[in-house]
Amino acid sequence: EIVYLNGEFVKKNEACLSPFDRGFLFSHAAYEVTAVFDGKLIDFDAHMARLDRTLDGIDIPRDGLAERLKSLHEELIARNGVTEGFVYLQVTGGAYGRRDFGGPETLTPGLFMFCETRNLIGEKAQHGVSAITVEDQRWKRRDYKTTQLLSQALAYREAERGGAFGAILHEDGMVTEGASANLWVVLDADTLVTRNLGRQILPGITRQSVLDHLAREGITVEERAISLEELLGAREVFTTSATGLILPVVQLDGKPVGTGKPGPVTRRVQGQYYRGIGADLDA
Ligand code: PLP
Repeated sequence: EIVYLNGEFVKKNEACLSPFDRGFLFSHAAYEVTAVFDGKLIDFDAHMARLDRTLDGIDIPRDGLAERLKSLHEELIARNGVTEGFVYLQVTGGAYGRRDFGGPETLTPGLFMFCETRNLIGEKAQHGVSAITVEDQRWKRRDYKTTQLLSQALAYREAERGGAFGAILHEDGMVTEGASANLWVVLDADTLVTRNLGRQILPGITRQSVLDHLAREGITVEERAISLEELLGAREVFTTSATGLILPVVQLDGKPVGTGKPGPVTRRVQGQYYRGIGADLDA
């Protein structure tokens, strides 16, 4: 397996990063994860636009980065022979040989990329997953895709310890999103809800793509905050993300969601999305 680190393609186990990197010391880093299906990057431009926004937001220069990233993605995919999976990319504040909160006036970014082969539409998409609800303890700029992921990592550990797949985060009685996905809830036959954008959640690329598909079909979505109570009483729940695409959540805090099986709205959204990338659920 070949990864890309600070200007070079190197073997995964030979990649070496300075412990003084601001990404390591301060989580001063942006990241993106772009799905690959049939050898092609899904929604690449949207991911790069979000990366630009995050970099602007966390004071890391992005000069000249955009032009290089497309070919680096393609080269990494080709070198690793990935046809289905994802590419991970992280831009850090760079390394300066000392631990200095402020650092130089203009940072020189570090860049790390790897890719992985993964079945994007598998068992989990077919049968659904279980999740627990956990208090959202993240920082206040969740709209930036940064590597400040400690609370999500701990939420996943808690979920896994209890035999669940993932976690759904909430604060002050309202649901924010999944620990690494946006959340959608079907409240009754006509009401599909996902949280409105703002600083509280990540503007998911898959979320936007699903919204676009639904708009084309004339299906309305309420974009608003969902209470924990609404979530726990929902007919259907599903998540969207680049690596999970659309995953039905069939169990919450140990209790079945609706019938305990992926519901009709979720199946419809999956069908639409998968067709859009040239896939299908039974593939
Ligand atoms: N929300 C959070 C907190 C995430 O970490 C992610 C993806 O990792 C998402 C939402 C989904 O975003 P996207 O569809 O762009 O992968």
